[in-house]
Amino acid sequence: MKRSILVSFLLISMATFSQKLTKEETDFILAADSTQMFKVIQITEPKEFKILKAVSTDVNPKDKLLPIIAKRMYLAMRNPENPGIGIAAPQVGINRNLFWVQRFDKSGEPFEFYINPKIVWRSELLRKGMEGCLSIPEDRGDVYRNYTIKITYFDLKGNFKEEIVEGFTAVVFQHEADHLNGILFTDRITEQSSWNVQSINNDVNLFLKKKLKPN
Ligand SMILES: [Zn+2]
Repeated sequence: MKRSILVSFLLISMATFSQKLTKEETDFILAADSTQMFKVIQITEPKEFKILKAVSTDVNPKDKLLPIIAKRMYLAMRNPENPGIGIAAPQVGINRNLFWVQRFDKSGEPFEFYINPKIVWRSELLRKGMEGCLSIPEDRGDVYRNYTIKITYFDLKGNFKEEIVEGFTAVVFQHEADHLNGILFTDRITEQSSWNVQSINNDVNLFLKKKLKPN
């Protein structure tokens, strides 16, 4: 009993420690103030490609630097020269589980910031749609995504939340969540080229993956 309490304590301590931003990350984040956008990194630069392909880790949802990271990421995403509808922290050189998503499913279509987001459930129903990426110049393509997902995350006030998201907004979530695992939409296109899917009807872009054997 005592030992299990000690093990739990150690595991929690380790998780908390790994959530702390490193000195290197802190210096990078504070290299400019919150009115300055981060640079969006590109797959065409080998050093930046490595960051985009790395797996990110959770942060302390109450870290004092999060509002500054969020602001500088938002400015990078909404750069008038190349505005996007979502951005993940690895795209600005930070391998941490953070992203912005535009909520097309909410009135006013607001942009929202997600801390340690996780997709905890996915529908079998798939939606096929065109995607592009701020880190992949001049490339677009059709990707299958789960039509409905259930997500958990922390908001900037440190509240833990759970939500069901559908349709195009769920596509943006899945694209950004993939970034946190080092997966790009082009990787999905390659992976899905061998998929066998069936359209559920001929009018909409909704599909189910064909199964060789019934469950
Ligand atoms: Zn992207």
